[in-house]
Amino acid sequence: MFRLDQPIIITIDGPAGTGKSSVARQLAKRLGLDFLDTGAMYRAAAAIAIDHGIGLGEPERLVAKVIEADLHFDWSQDPPAMLAFGRSINSRIRDLDVTAIVSPVAGIAALRDHMVRKQRIIAAQHPRLVTEGRDQGSVVFPDAMVQFYLTASVQERARRRAQQLTAGGGQADTAALERDIDARDRSDMDRAVGPLRRPERAMVLDTSDLSFDQVVDELERIVRRKAAEP
Ligand code: C5P
Repeated sequence: MFRLDQPIIITIDGPAGTGKSSVARQLAKRLGLDFLDTGAMYRAAAAIAIDHGIGLGEPERLVAKVIEADLHFDWSQDPPAMLAFGRSINSRIRDLDVTAIVSPVAGIAALRDHMVRKQRIIAAQHPRLVTEGRDQGSVVFPDAMVQFYLTASVQERARRRAQQLTAGGGQADTAALERDIDARDRSDMDRAVGPLRRPERAMVLDTSDLSFDQVVDELERIVRRKAAEP
């Protein structure tokens, strides 16, 4: 039994394109909790690597630069803005060049240690939190009160991404998107350091045939049911 008005951590993990970020953000809103997008932190590190000419083979230089950048969130924004060197890098971290290298960057052991420490500090400062990523239930918060793992077929994830791109006025090649998503899944799952794993205690939800609202409704229902358990 737990109370939603007391410290509580809810983790949501899963592969790219399952809608974790939007779902986590909406769930946090409904429950009155803060929302942590840990992918944004790894994306920020990847952007810093590119923009400062630091290669994947230079982990110490990268971690030193990330520390210098003083990565943190501006919690007054909704969703919280990712800041590096005192400036928002929210749009930079979604660029294609960043997405292309973020998985190998996130496989750098020293960087992961740094990020995991940072995420635990954030949770100490924001103890009522929905946190979303690849290792939040398995590594960072293994004792989290509620753990979820979202999945969806590669085809459905590519279809959703294509819809986002065309809604934003862009072009979408669904076959190429499927290949990209599949490649990032493999990279995230097969890397030696910090691979994507389903946490043992996590409740698994396949979102392939569910709408966004249905997914959020289901997670909210589960959390509230658990909170009401004796
Ligand atoms: O969720 P998002 O697509 O923004 O994550 C970008 C990348 O960051 C993932 O592909 C993964 O390699 C990495 N990541 C991670 N651990 C997390 C969150 C993200 O390794 N907790």
